[in-house]
Amino acid sequence: MPLPANFPCTAAVVGGGPAGLMAAEALSGHGVRVDLFDAMPSVGRKFLIAGKGGMNITHSEPAAAFRARYREREADIAPLLDTFGPNALREWIAGLGIATFVGSSGRVFPADMKAAPLLRAWLKRLRETGVRFHMRHRWCGWTLENGQRALRFSTPHGERSVFAGAVVLALGGGSRAKLGSDGRWVRQMEQAGIPIAPLRPANCGFDVGWSAHLRERFAGRPVKPVVASLADRAGKRIRQAGEFVVTATGVEGGLIYALSAPLRDAIEANGSALLHLDLLPGREWRYVVDEIAHPRGSRSLSGHLQSRLGLKGVKVALLRECVAPEAFSDPEKLAAAIKALPLRLVAPRPLDEAISSAGGVMFEALDKNLMLHKLPGTFCAGEMLDWEAPTGGYLLTACFAGGRAAGLGALGWLNREGGGNPNPPFPQDAS
Ligand SMILES: Cc1cc2nc3c(=O)[nH]c(=O)nc-3n(C[C@H](O)[C@H](O)[C@H](O)COP(=O)(O)OP(=O)(O)OC[C@H]3O[C@@H](n4cnc5c(N)ncnc54)[C@H](O)[C@@H]3O)c2cc1C
Repeated sequence: MPLPANFPCTAAVVGGGPAGLMAAEALSGHGVRVDLFDAMPSVGRKFLIAGKGGMNITHSEPAAAFRARYREREADIAPLLDTFGPNALREWIAGLGIATFVGSSGRVFPADMKAAPLLRAWLKRLRETGVRFHMRHRWCGWTLENGQRALRFSTPHGERSVFAGAVVLALGGGSRAKLGSDGRWVRQMEQAGIPIAPLRPANCGFDVGWSAHLRERFAGRPVKPVVASLADRAGKRIRQAGEFVVTATGVEGGLIYALSAPLRDAIEANGSALLHLDLLPGREWRYVVDEIAHPRGSRSLSGHLQSRLGLKGVKVALLRECVAPEAFSDPEKLAAAIKALPLRLVAPRPLDEAISSAGGVMFEALDKNLMLHKLPGTFCAGEMLDWEAPTGGYLLTACFAGGRAAGLGALGWLNREGGGNPNPPFPQDAS
C-alpha cells in the first residue's frame, strides 16, 4: 500500500545496508516501531555482493591491531567497537543461527561463507519485531512543512513527506552505484550545512599505463608472492606481503587494496605514487646477484633467470616493463630491481569501481551517539561516515557497530526527558 503524502512515524531508518538494518534492530529490539526506507527494490544488495566468494565479516586479531586499521579515525571508531566489536558481532551472528569460523589468515567467516542465509534470517527477525520496509523510496533531502522538518522521498507513487521522531541515515558510500550506494546524498547533506569530506576510492585498483605488450599478454595474470613497500606521508616505510593482479590499465587485488589508502594519498599529494615490489621475497639481494652472475653459457637471460631464480612469466615481464635495458647486463643492478622493482602508479581507479569509499560525514559534525549537531534527532552510520579501512572484515564490523550505536542513539533521543518538538526545523530556519 502506498504511503500517504504526509506520513508520520516514530523512527525512520533510511538505507537498508548492514548499518541501517542494525540501527533498525537496535530500535525495534526496544519496542520502537521502525519504518525503513531504501531506494532499491530490496535491501542489503552490497552486503550480498560482499558475500560472493566468501563473506569476510570480521577479523580475529587482537583489539589494538584491529583498531589501528582505521588509521586516522581510530579514535572515532574505537568507542563503537568497545560496545559492539568483533566478538559481539560473532555472538550476534550466532543468535541468527549461523556459526562463524576463523580462517587461516585470522579472518572470520560464516560457516557456509555466504551472506544470503544470514541476511534472510535477519530480515525475518526484523519483520517479526515490526520493522516495516518501504522499498523504492529514494530520500531526496528535507522539506519544511508547517514549521516541521520532514524527510522527502521520491517513490513510484510520487513524492512523500515523512515526519519522524528520530531518523537514522545509513546511505552507504559512493562505490558500486548500481547496488544502491551512489553517494547522491552528499549534495543534500551539504545543502543542509553538514560538513562532508569528499568521497574518494578506497580498497581500489590503480592505473599504471602499461605498454601494449604487457597489457595484451599479461592482463589478468596474478603476481605472487611479492612484498610491496612504499613510504607513507611521514616518510615511514610500509611493507605488505601478498599478491596482486595485472589489469588492462594497471594493478588491483588484495595486496594493492591493503595499501590503497597511502597510495591514493601519495598520488593526491605528488601526482603519482612509487611502489617498490620485491619479486623474490625469500631471497637476499646478495644471493640474487650471485645467481644472476653465474655463467649462463648459451642460455637466454630469461631462461637463466628462470633456472637460477625461478623468475618467469609476468614477473619477468614486469622487470622488462619497469627497468632500464642497461640493468639487464649488470647483475647488481638487475638484482636490485628484482628486490625493489619501482612501479609508478598514476591514478586510482574511479570511485564506482572501488570496494569502498573514504570520506563522508565528518565526525566533527556528530556527537558521541552519531547524532548530527546541526539536526538534532538525525543520526548517521556506516560507510557514509568519514572513515576507511582495508578489506578483512573491518568495513562490515564498523558498519554494524556504527549502525547499532546510531540506533541506540535514536532510541535515547526518542526517550529523552522533555520530548519537545520531535521534528524541529533546521537551525537556520528557526529564527
Ligand atoms: C565487491 C565487494 C566486496 C566486499 N567485501 C567485503 C568483505 O568481505 N568484508 C567487509 O567487511 N566489507 C566488504 N565490502 C564492503 C561492505 O559491503 C560495505 O562497507 C558495507 O555494505 C557498507 O554498509 P552500509 O550499510 O554503510 O552501506 P550499504 O551496504 O552501501 O547500504 C546503503 C543502502 O542505502 C541505500 N541508499 C543509498 N542512497 C539512498 C537514498 N538516497 N535513499 C534511500 N536509500 C538509499 C542503498 O540502496 C543501500 O541499500 C565489500 C564491498 C564490495 C563492493
